Formats: sequence, C-alpha cells, structure tokens
Amino acid sequence: MKLGSKIHLYSSVLFAILLLVANVTIYTVFHRLMMDREMSQLLAESEQAAEVLRTAEGRLALNGLLRAYVPLDGTLRWVEASGEGSALVASGNQLELGRQEQTFYSERRLEQVTINGERYGFVSLPVIGPSGSVANVQMMSSLVELTELLRILRLVLISVSAAVLVPVVISSGILGRLVMRPITSMTSTMRRIIRSGEFARLKQTGKSRDELAEMGDTFNEMIGLLEESFVRQEQFVSNASHELKTPLTIIESYASLLKRRGAERPDLLEESVEAIHSEAVRMKTMTEQLLLLATSKREWKADMQPVGLVAFAEQVSTIFSQVHRRNVTVISSLDPVQGAALVPEAGEAEATAQDLTVLADQDMLKQVLFILLDNARKYSAGDIELVAGRLQGTAFLAVEDRGEGIPPEDLPHVFERFYRVDKARSREQEGAGGTGLGLSLGKELCEAMGARLELESTLGAGTTATIWLPDSGQEYLA
Ligand code: ADP
Repeated sequence: MKLGSKIHLYSSVLFAILLLVANVTIYTVFHRLMMDREMSQLLAESEQAAEVLRTAEGRLALNGLLRAYVPLDGTLRWVEASGEGSALVASGNQLELGRQEQTFYSERRLEQVTINGERYGFVSLPVIGPSGSVANVQMMSSLVELTELLRILRLVLISVSAAVLVPVVISSGILGRLVMRPITSMTSTMRRIIRSGEFARLKQTGKSRDELAEMGDTFNEMIGLLEESFVRQEQFVSNASHELKTPLTIIESYASLLKRRGAERPDLLEESVEAIHSEAVRMKTMTEQLLLLATSKREWKADMQPVGLVAFAEQVSTIFSQVHRRNVTVISSLDPVQGAALVPEAGEAEATAQDLTVLADQDMLKQVLFILLDNARKYSAGDIELVAGRLQGTAFLAVEDRGEGIPPEDLPHVFERFYRVDKARSREQEGAGGTGLGLSLGKELCEAMGARLELESTLGAGTTATIWLPDSGQEYLA
C-alpha cells in the first residue's frame, strides 16, 4: 500500500475509533445517570405513597389515596399478602397495565421491566397495614419519555459523528497527498538522475518553509555538492592524465632516441639518462601528491602534539640543506635585528622562547615546510630563510626567498591544483619541473591541522609563504 493511502487510512480509522469510544462513553454515562435519576424519583414517590397508605383507614380511603399518588403515566397498587383487599389505580393511558397479574413480594424491589414492548420502572415496598396485615405498595411508571430522550441522543451522536468523519476522511486524504508530493517528486528526480546519468534538482514551487520544503532544499544542496565534486573529480582526472602524459612522452622520446642512436652516439647517453631520470622523479612526486590529494580529507587525522617551532625549523632546514645543498637560515623572530628584516610588520612581533611551542602534527607540518622550501629552492637562486615567530598572538613559520616572485594576477590561482605560473619557465630551470600540486596539497594539510597557508610575493623581489598555526590549539587537545 502506498504511504499516502496508509496515512489516509490510518488517520481515518484512528479518528473513527476515537469518535466511537467518545460517543459510547457519553451515551453510557448519560443513560446511567438518567436511569438512576428516574428510578430514585420513582422510589421517593413510592415511599411517600407507602407512608400515607400504611395509615389509611378503610377501603374508601385506600382507593382515594391510591388515586392521589398514582403516577401520571403508570399504576399504583396495594397488594395484600393474603390476596384479599388488594386495590389498583392506573393512569388513563395505562389501563392495560391493570390487567397484569398481581404478585406479592416479601422484600423491597427496585427494577426495570418490559411489558408489551414498553419499558417501566417498578418499585415494590413491603408495608404493614393499619390492621396489622402485611402488604406491598407497588408503583410502576413508564420510562417512555426517557427512552425517547435516549433515542434522540443516539441519533444526534450518530449524525454528528458522521458529519465530522466526512471532512476528516477528506482532509486526511489531502494530507496524505500533501506529504507524498515532495517525496514522489524526489523519487522521480532520483530516477531521472539514474536513467540519464545527469544531475537534476527538485523544482521547489511552494512558498511554505516547512520541513518538507527544507528536505527538498537539502536534497538540492546535496545534489549541488555531488555535482560540484563530480565535476572537480572529472577535471582532476583529466588534468592528472594530461600532466602525466608530458613526462611519459619525454621519457618515451628519449628512450626511442637511445634505442635508435644510442650505440653510435654515446654523447646522447648522458643527456637522455638525465632527462629520463628527472622526468621519472617528477612523475614519482606527482603520483605521491596525487595519491595524497585523492584520499578523503576526513582520513587525514591530524595527530596534534606540542612542537617547539624554532627547534623544529632547525631540524627541517638541516635535512633540507643536506639533501639539496642549499643554504637555509633559520631565524627566530626573537632576534630583533634579523626578525625586523624578515617578518612583515616585525615591529609588532612579540615572541618568547616558551610561547613558540604550538600544537601541530609534526609529519604534516614537515611535509608543508618541505613543499614551501622546495618552491623557494626551485624559484630562487640565493639563500632561503625560515622564520619561526609569533605575531599578534599567532605563531607562524615563514619561508622567504629572494627569487623571481609571482605576478599579482597569478597569485590568487597558485593554490589551485596543477596551476603553474609559467610552465616553460619552471621547466627550463634545473630540477624545477614542478607538478602544480605542491601548494594545493600544502594548503589542505594546513587546513587539516587547523592552520592557514598564505603567500605574499613581489615580482622580481621574492616570495614569502607563511603557515599561521592555530592560536592555542586547545581544541586539538580534547
Ligand atoms: P609546483 O610543483 O609547480 O611548484 P606549486 O603548487 O607548489 O607547484 O606552485 C604553483 C606555482 O606557484 C608554481 O608553479 C610557481 O610558478 C609558483 N610558485 C610557488 N612558489 C613560488 C616561489 N617561492 N617563487 C616563485 N613562484 C612560486
């Protein structure tokens, strides 16, 4: 059964049951109250009549008194235990009742009886007559008025219930359809996406801002995100394959050259091997970076530990200078002379040896520093400086070079994957065959640690890449 029909059916049935229970309760309570009232009234009247009749002197007085106390719609009977001297008076419309056989009851009785299809209240009170004889005062009164009242009540309850049930059934049907509409439209949109393989969004027409509209918006948002990530993935794959094609082509052409002419021209050997090696190294770096970028950022669990920035910078610079034979000077912004020259607005730098301890993932931070130092090495010829300090309460590590710099129009794009300022230029430089992935990877690694990576550059003057580390990093201690 469809969800809309279920909502329709369940809410209608539930409402009908509730209505039935409520009406039955009302009717039963009313019926009981009215009956009790009627019977106690009959009992009171009988007691009153019995009190008077008990003391009645003679037959004449008895008949007169019976006539005086007979109910408007019933009978009043004096029944002697011996059967002698009994008397009965019936109201004008209940003469039929007079023909009923008389019975003497030794105990008091209060009950409802049905005679000729009509309901009566019946009371029998045992009394001792004036002559000492035992007798009954029996009063019977028709309950026709009460029965009629209850019949009308039944009718009213049934018709009101029916009148209420109709709009409830209609409105629950409308409700079922209303709830189902966005769900149906979402299902058909999803089916369309599956069939066509293209991203589609829900048409949000209504003005209402209820949960269903919110669900539609969220669905559209999710589709937007999926589409964006799909497009990015597609671009990434096409860029990656394009970028990998270049070194492969170079390797292939040098290998073919060696195959054809290697034996006759040994001079080609060194050049070819060098080119093949450098391209292979570049491909290796690129695949490593691609693999890292391809893993979900959520899997990059930063292991935040206290890191002494100056000591850390020195350790990294030593490894780097040994590997690349380039001089890297580590400067702590504690040193006012060197710091002033290197840190922007160095006058504001306020640092002490103790507060240069930050929380960071050592491996990630090392990886980012290597990327920045490698860029400084590739795009500058002179010394590289690595500054560790604290500015306006935020710790930082900055890599400074005095190289070619980045044109202002390229600066906003250098964090994009595969973006390189001038491919030809970087290729020409020895060992500068960049991948265009370093800075984007560095930025994502920084984000995983809650840090920020910034680049400042002046064309022809040099570049400063700064890692701003989380202020206290307290949130990473939890
Ligand atoms: P690559 O592997 O090409 O260096 P990156 O993402 O690290 O890739 O850098 C992107 C581009 O930004 C580089 O190709 C280069 O043109 C430019 N760039 C990055 N760092 C520097 C720097 N220190 N000096 C000059 N240009 C730089």
